[in-house]
Amino acid sequence: MADAAGKGIRSQNLALLLRLVCDSSPVTRVELAKLAGLTKVTVTNLMAELIDNGLVHDLGVTQHGGPGRPASRVAPDPLGPVGIGFQVEVDHVAGCVVDLSGRIRRRELRRMDTRSLSPAEVVRGARPVLRRLFDHATTSGQLVAGIGVALPALFGRDRDGQLLVRSVPGLGWQDVDVRTLVAGELEAIGALGIDVRLGGSVPFAADVECRGSAEDLIYVGGEAEVGAALVTGGVPHAGAVGAFGHVPVHPRRGRCPCGRSGCLELSAGRAAMASAVGEPETALPRLLSGKEPFAERLHDGDRRAATATTLAARALADALAAPVAMLGPATVVLGGRLAALGDALREPLAGRLAEQHPGPRVRIGQGRPDTALQGAAWSVLAEIVDDPLGWLDRTS
Ligand SMILES: [Zn+2]
Repeated sequence: MADAAGKGIRSQNLALLLRLVCDSSPVTRVELAKLAGLTKVTVTNLMAELIDNGLVHDLGVTQHGGPGRPASRVAPDPLGPVGIGFQVEVDHVAGCVVDLSGRIRRRELRRMDTRSLSPAEVVRGARPVLRRLFDHATTSGQLVAGIGVALPALFGRDRDGQLLVRSVPGLGWQDVDVRTLVAGELEAIGALGIDVRLGGSVPFAADVECRGSAEDLIYVGGEAEVGAALVTGGVPHAGAVGAFGHVPVHPRRGRCPCGRSGCLELSAGRAAMASAVGEPETALPRLLSGKEPFAERLHDGDRRAATATTLAARALADALAAPVAMLGPATVVLGGRLAALGDALREPLAGRLAEQHPGPRVRIGQGRPDTALQGAAWSVLAEIVDDPLGWLDRTS
């Protein structure tokens, strides 16, 4: 019993310290002891264990400006395990390699008209992307801890609680076993026994944008489709896998590609906003250069873009009214493609929301184009950070 309890405490302390190293590096052992509320001796011992197992790296004594003796600093091991993120969009497949410091080590992309292909053809077409990502990790001597697949999908769960793709409305996918398809491709490139996990693009992006936030948030983002996730204690709610873009807000508006009428997508989705200004719907410019063609027109003073943005803001505020009334979030964060629209979207949205509620703050997130990919890769690494001892036991 005593051994089990001791192992439990050691396991918790290892997780706490690894989390602190990931969040605060470079950091000294004395600083870690203060942050963790542990003795310096305990930190030194546990840090030795994390260093021996290739999760933490001792940087040695670096430039020292403070009082007292110079102390060596530690950081996540740059040669430690990595996570791979992978996503399918209407015009490409893309992936990245992320290390324990949260840094993207490698990006890969292949242009592909995924809407004209079957799910199996898309995943097969992604083989060169997956191969290059794995080659990068293995030639750097790094262990791939798993692959996170980000999809703008509606999910169900199987008997074991694992996510199943029910549909990806933007790609026309229905009941696709994406996990088996990806695992098959990994096997084909010789990457055996790799953990494949699925998740919604929006919850993955929300995790990157809102990690560590203490207040309750509603994150609204997405690329092709609008999505939303409730974030409490800095963690996106596990149930946040629904189709926020298909909430009905336009009683007299026409049909949505999903088959229903009046969806939020019809005013705030990328296809609707692009067509309002005569632009083709595409994801590539934003991923490659961070530029969103619709947002460029908006910021150049295009009146059609301004009108479409105001209409989108009203529809978003109406769709948010019910969750805001029920959950009372402190802040609504606009991320993904919506962040690129800036105050032109935020101000009318906040104004309309305030008409109905004393209301949350509305702030614009970073909205980087690869946050979903980064979140997908980090979902794999989070398992190591949450339980390093368990992970070491499984992989040793
Ligand atoms: Zn719809």
